[in-house]
Amino acid sequence: MMKSVGFIGWRGMVGSVLLERMIQENDFIKIHPHFFSTSQPGQDGPIINNILFKNLKDAYNINLLKEMDIILTCQGGFYTNAVYSKLRKENWRGYWIDASSTLRMSDDSIIVLDPINLKIIQEGLDNGIKTFVGSNCTVSLMLMALGGLFSKNLIEWISVSTYQAASGAGAKYIIELLKQMGALYNVVSKDLLNKSYSILDIEKKVTKEIENNQFPLKYFPIPLAGNLIPWIDIDMNNGQSREEWKGQFETNKILGFKNKVIIDGICVRISSIRCHSQSFTIKLNKNLSLKNIEEIIVSHNNWVSFVPNSIEETISKLTPSSVTGTLNIPIGRLRKMNIGEKYFSAFTVGDQLLWGAAEPLRRMLNLLINI
Ligand code: NAP
Repeated sequence: MMKSVGFIGWRGMVGSVLLERMIQENDFIKIHPHFFSTSQPGQDGPIINNILFKNLKDAYNINLLKEMDIILTCQGGFYTNAVYSKLRKENWRGYWIDASSTLRMSDDSIIVLDPINLKIIQEGLDNGIKTFVGSNCTVSLMLMALGGLFSKNLIEWISVSTYQAASGAGAKYIIELLKQMGALYNVVSKDLLNKSYSILDIEKKVTKEIENNQFPLKYFPIPLAGNLIPWIDIDMNNGQSREEWKGQFETNKILGFKNKVIIDGICVRISSIRCHSQSFTIKLNKNLSLKNIEEIIVSHNNWVSFVPNSIEETISKLTPSSVTGTLNIPIGRLRKMNIGEKYFSAFTVGDQLLWGAAEPLRRMLNLLINI
């Protein structure tokens, strides 16, 4: 029997990408979809395959939610906090799929990334687990890139520096970044037309504009355009940001590792739009040739691809703008490091709204549809 699936958060950034992917893959013909809203119940919902879904349901109405076999929420942690335990207390036994981090640490949830942990997901389903949560975006993208090495238990530790896109913070932040870029351009647009411009005058005007009280700055804590922010999420009071803490915790939970792989680094917000990049120093537990490492990496899944370590290949295939909007996970800049034979560097890029957020949830939904 076709399952009733309730969608919450479908018009947000992750939710819209999810709907786009579900339409592309023809997923809607396999389910009875129901669309909910936290803010606009009664209004029109999305148009899917030329059908307008009218009369959005109230996302806080527990009785309506209880009728769903599966609930998929991309609404955010506040919504999960408000609704999830109430539903479970009312004995709702349906499946809950969630983009937010709220339930990731819970013992009765599984973090889903099926190209990496399908076996753990299947065992969980057999054992009656009903709650499936998407992982942190950088964690998913790292695992998709390095899955081959993890699956063969070859990694001793990873040190990572991230270069994370504005979209990771939400739709409002992308808009603010673009307004900031516009403000910087506007302040020097006339000077740029003058062939005998003074670069130091231009630089001074731009720098002054970033410090101006009127600079668009409602959401980011400090300007991002012409700048970067070397702190993402809250302070864990051990020197790490929460984003940095998630790297090791979530990776080990996804892989079901008892002997922890050590992962640590610094997470940085930069001004790319929707692709995160990560630079790794990796210590392997044995000495493998670069060719061998490359083969292990690319044979792991259908989305990871190897970019040869040349200028041309790197700058054409290993950038946010070349990856955006695709499921590709290129990895390159592979080379043995001066530190020693077991150490190598790598750089990877991934669309954080696709493999970083919506795609693992879509694939989990498909696993549940077929149960
Ligand atoms: P978002 O774009 O801010 O959307 C969340 C909700 O805001 C929407 O579902 C919508 O709810 C409401 N909303 C209000 N005004 C809106 C407007 N003008 N356009 C669209 N929606 C509007 O949030 P998000 O970035 O998708 O993140 C959702 C959850 O996924 C969060 O828990 C986040 O941590 C998690 N996540 C995000 C990312 C990411 O890359 N952004 C990655 C992984 C996980 P109503 O329709 O009910 O009003």
